[in-house]
Amino acid sequence: MKGSENKMEIIRKVKEMQEISDRLRHEGKKIGFVPTMGYLHEGHLSLVRKARVLSDAVVVSIFVNPTQFGPGEDFERYPRDEEGDKAKLEAEDVDFLFIPEAGEMYPSGYQTHVEVTEVSKGLCGDFRPGHFRGVATVVAKLFNIVKPRVAVFGEKDYQQLLVIKRIVRDLNFDIEILSGTLIREEDGLAMSSRNAYLSPEGRQKALSLYRSLLKGKELYETGEKDASVLVKAVQKSVESTAGIVLQYVEIRDAETLDRIERVGKPSVIAVAALIDSVRLIDNMILGR
Ligand code: AMP
Repeated sequence: MKGSENKMEIIRKVKEMQEISDRLRHEGKKIGFVPTMGYLHEGHLSLVRKARVLSDAVVVSIFVNPTQFGPGEDFERYPRDEEGDKAKLEAEDVDFLFIPEAGEMYPSGYQTHVEVTEVSKGLCGDFRPGHFRGVATVVAKLFNIVKPRVAVFGEKDYQQLLVIKRIVRDLNFDIEILSGTLIREEDGLAMSSRNAYLSPEGRQKALSLYRSLLKGKELYETGEKDASVLVKAVQKSVESTAGIVLQYVEIRDAETLDRIERVGKPSVIAVAALIDSVRLIDNMILGR
């Protein structure tokens, strides 16, 4: 708790987490929540720090959610490091770590899902069928378990952030959703737990995503506002690096994710690609 010397508590059961959240709320404490899939890096920790300054009690969850991985995706081999993660969260003065087993979240007979129809379409939605349904479902469940007043999500997963804002509005969750900016390595690579899978050569190739987005941003800032021209320039730049399989480059309205022809309002230029069969995403905001 803010200013206290308490050690972080580890909670593995839904009921126990709900009881703790009820008690905190009853005591008038504001709960701040950061959901993650673990293997934590500075990107995650930046969100935890944001939650820390805004709340009296910080809850972080680590749950590699099976329902957001498609067949053939990396659920089984998603990197895990529970001990390392615990140490990082304790150092950030986190109060509670909620770390349930899959069977605790999806007991037998489970059959309810949350689907955000429009914002989930296109971009990653096209390449990962069912992914946002899994994300929306688990986040709605976590909100009912942790009962936070604020929750913090990263702009790294830009479409996910908008999916979550939509759920909160549409399902009347009484939760403020805050976002954290995308955190990069020193050389510009967007931090991601999946970077751990990259070979040294793949790691170098991956930098092309950042460099290509920067090119798009520079082009925009020097006067180009035609979305298709900007997209083509970024595509060409990514494709000039051998060994990258580009999935998409798109520019969308940053608030609604609507398709746009000209960049007038703040927009997001988003990219996804496979390198060493590792799926990486990155984005930059234009006009903010
Ligand atoms: P994940 O563990 O990948 O599910 O991510 C958990 C949260 O951390 C999500 O809200 C992500 O958007 C956020 N996140 C992941 N990587 C970054 C990053 N490089 N910068 C900012 N936020 C991030």
